Amino acid sequence: MTYDPISRTFLDFFRERGHETVPDCSLIPPPGDPVLFTTSGMHPLTPYLEGRPHPLGRRLVNVQRCLRTTDLDEVGDSTHLTLFRMLGSWSLGDYDLPQSLRWGYVLLRDGFGIDHDRLHVTVFGGDDQVGPDEASQRIWEEIGLPVELTGEENWWSNGPTGPCGPDTELFVWTGDGPPRGTPGTDDRWMELWNHVGMRYHRHPDGRLTPLRQSNVDTGMGFERLEMVLRGHRSVFEGDGLVPWVRGVGDVWGLRDEPLRLVGDHLRSSVAVVGDGVCPSNTGRGYVLRRLLRRALTTLWRDDPSRSLSDLPTGPVRHTLDGFGQRVTVDEVRQVFSGEERRFRELLRRGRPVVSRRRSRGPLTDEDYRDLHDTHGLPRDLVDGLLSEAR
Ligand code: ATP
Ligand code: MG
Ligand code: MG
Ligand code: MG
Repeated sequence: MTYDPISRTFLDFFRERGHETVPDCSLIPPPGDPVLFTTSGMHPLTPYLEGRPHPLGRRLVNVQRCLRTTDLDEVGDSTHLTLFRMLGSWSLGDYDLPQSLRWGYVLLRDGFGIDHDRLHVTVFGGDDQVGPDEASQRIWEEIGLPVELTGEENWWSNGPTGPCGPDTELFVWTGDGPPRGTPGTDDRWMELWNHVGMRYHRHPDGRLTPLRQSNVDTGMGFERLEMVLRGHRSVFEGDGLVPWVRGVGDVWGLRDEPLRLVGDHLRSSVAVVGDGVCPSNTGRGYVLRRLLRRALTTLWRDDPSRSLSDLPTGPVRHTLDGFGQRVTVDEVRQVFSGEERRFRELLRRGRPVVSRRRSRGPLTDEDYRDLHDTHGLPRDLVDGLLSEAR
């Protein structure tokens, strides 16, 4: 595995402090895992956070590709992608959260050269089960960074049950001019790095019990860090995204938000296909289908003749190579074209059915069910056709 200079700086900093590198793994979690895709660097480490000894030891570091479909609606802004790299570090029952915060601060300031004055942090302020994270608050006050206390925004969990805990988030000022306000009041403060005190287990009934060991889990968005270090306005100016923004812009003449959405979704789709997923009506395949269909819907909004067969080879290869994936560009093209064909056909059949149904008044839940079960038209597709007709 070869790493870019930003990732190397991150890895080296933690290696010098006794951390071993965990190799990047596929977006597909191992069998038996309830989560469809790896959504953060900690995900593959869940059993070790729960106490199983890790073969590489108690201090780990890595760069992990992640897919977050929970962020679909945020894609198009300047900081959210569906597919991104997470720079992660872990203490598996070894050093504590304050130590991690100190190192985090030193790496950002001295390793990456980010000005002290551009940083702001948030800390868990407590809730009805767990008290405020005073140890973290103290560290930040010692270091002299402005601190904002929050509630559930600073509680990290990867799902309704499992390991979780209070976190502290580091924000960087991305506005012009001197920093203003707080992360809670001004969204030019961009979240860069999250340090989680992973010390609880959430049970299905909502109860919290302490984990066998107290861990630290941190995650920093590579593309956001790259944006800060290069002085870019958005993550779409980064190395992984530029070929997509160019390619999609040149071929279809898109700009602004539609350009970002199509570029992001097609890039993620390539990586998902690269990790062995095909479109389908359930599970991972459905996530891929949604990504491709959202991209197609956006493309067809101004010109229904646009086709994914015009997608240039460059960005596809760039993404597959970037993640070391062995699927060929042609295989990706076949998957994309097959899905485009099916989607076009579904829309062709669906349009008259939906407009007939609509002429009888607003659609009920039963209508949606019937359109799905009898005509194979999922709800979001029906909604798309309805808004098309408006
Ligand atoms: P945000 O509040 O900005 O949505 P988050 O709190 O959901 O971020 P975490 O779950 O704490 O994010 O993930 C750790 C880090 O990963 C974040 O601090 C951020 O740098 C990065 N990150 C999270 N989501 C995205 C995304 N959709 N695109 C790019 N980077 C992301
Ligand atoms: Mg988020
Ligand atoms: Mg956040
Ligand atoms: Mg966070």
